[in-house]
Amino acid sequence: MTRPDGRLSHETFPDEKGPQDACGVFGVWAPGEEVAKLAYFGLYALQHRGQESAGIAVSNGTQILVYKDMGLVSQVFDEATLGSLQGHLAIGHTRYSTTGSSVWENAQPTFRATGRGALALGHNGNLINSAELARLVSEARANGELIGKDRGATSDSDLMTELLASQTGRSIEEAAAEMLPRIRGAFSLVFMDESTLYAARDPQGIRPLVLGRLERGYVVASETAALDIVGASFVREVEPGELLAIDENGLRSRRFAVADPKGCVFEYVYMARPDTAIAGRSVNASRVEMGRRLAREHPVEADLVIPTPESGTPAAIGYAEQSGIPYGQGLVKNAYVGRTFIQPSQTIRQLGIRLKLNPLREVIEGKRLVVVDDSIVRGNTQRALVRMLREAGAREVHVRISSPPVKWPCFYGIDFATRAELIANGLSTEEIAASLGADSLGYISIEGMVEATTIPADRLCRACFDGVYPVELPNPQQLGKHLLEVPAAAASALARP
Ligand code: SF4
Repeated sequence: MTRPDGRLSHETFPDEKGPQDACGVFGVWAPGEEVAKLAYFGLYALQHRGQESAGIAVSNGTQILVYKDMGLVSQVFDEATLGSLQGHLAIGHTRYSTTGSSVWENAQPTFRATGRGALALGHNGNLINSAELARLVSEARANGELIGKDRGATSDSDLMTELLASQTGRSIEEAAAEMLPRIRGAFSLVFMDESTLYAARDPQGIRPLVLGRLERGYVVASETAALDIVGASFVREVEPGELLAIDENGLRSRRFAVADPKGCVFEYVYMARPDTAIAGRSVNASRVEMGRRLAREHPVEADLVIPTPESGTPAAIGYAEQSGIPYGQGLVKNAYVGRTFIQPSQTIRQLGIRLKLNPLREVIEGKRLVVVDDSIVRGNTQRALVRMLREAGAREVHVRISSPPVKWPCFYGIDFATRAELIANGLSTEEIAASLGADSLGYISIEGMVEATTIPADRLCRACFDGVYPVELPNPQQLGKHLLEVPAAAASALARP
């Protein structure tokens, strides 16, 4: 697929993407360290959270430099670029777009001049009151509170940057304390001026954000796995509704809202790395437990449990452990196929799933298989998978899914298909099994999934499974990925209450 900038995308199967996350963020304040390189490795550990663009902003105390481009972290940065980003403070971002297109202008960190200097920001999540924020930005511009040319905000992250930059008489910290309570939806933020690193998390703490300690400084990151890769020790989560500031005076914390935790349960199911912990719970342990519960809820007579690699692996291990059915590797994943800029020709593309997965015939032939995967969105991948396993000689194929049916869209930063495209929307489990060509299909229950996380049910968002949205949504016209890209007049009309 050709990207808007004319280069080729790394997506081999743009129509068969799984759920996409809204980004990974990283921040580091560490005088004497190579902060750009620390940010690079932090982003490398967060690459799974967004693969459309990557960027790093660095400050040396007097000036912020930003380098960003479309592509993977390893494609955007090289040794020379990182070497030119000198300073003691940095933030980094990997992006998957949820509000605003996948174009260079929307890559992050965002950057704005302020009355006192400059500001850079990285955002994970998705806001649900962008229309209202767009109106506030217009007002600030009309009042002369924004300096510099009006480049037009085209993402929710841009709007937050403009609002922070608009408080010309105040420090960024004071501006943030005023702005953050006005923002609704999911936001795990890292931002910086020339001297201070800031981090903030929405009152529901929908997306993860953690604080770590280096010998000579601090790190904030979307996942604990990014702390590990830079050698930082885990200190604690950034609390829902908390604003942190880190500079030469140390670490300051203030609350901008009462915490009402509703962490995204899908982080445990699919999105976060298995070697990450969220709210004190290991993601891998949650997934293995989901597999055990899935086996209790949907047992079947079979010879072998195999995962859809890699995301189905922990749950398949749990399923095998609980059921007593042997676990095996029946599919081999080509780990690099999603990481190439070379597009397959139409003939090669028709091979479909075989570019990603290849069956081990000697393992599969003649067997009654349980195939464990983490989720079904459209069902295209699973349909191709079942066909491939049968062609490789499987006698029976029983599909088991370690999350409940996805029936509702996410407005808080994970981009599923539209509701009409979700296979579980309107079809019964039996009908979906028939559509996939499977002998049977079983989904874990919502209760089973939630209990596997060990997090109390009232502290989790599970709206994509049950339609109960913990942060009240505005009317549908004020939601949508391209809301801010409609002509300005139409946008202000949308923004009116
Ligand atoms: S709707 Fe689903 S994916 Fe979105 S935040 Fe809630 S649980 Fe997570």
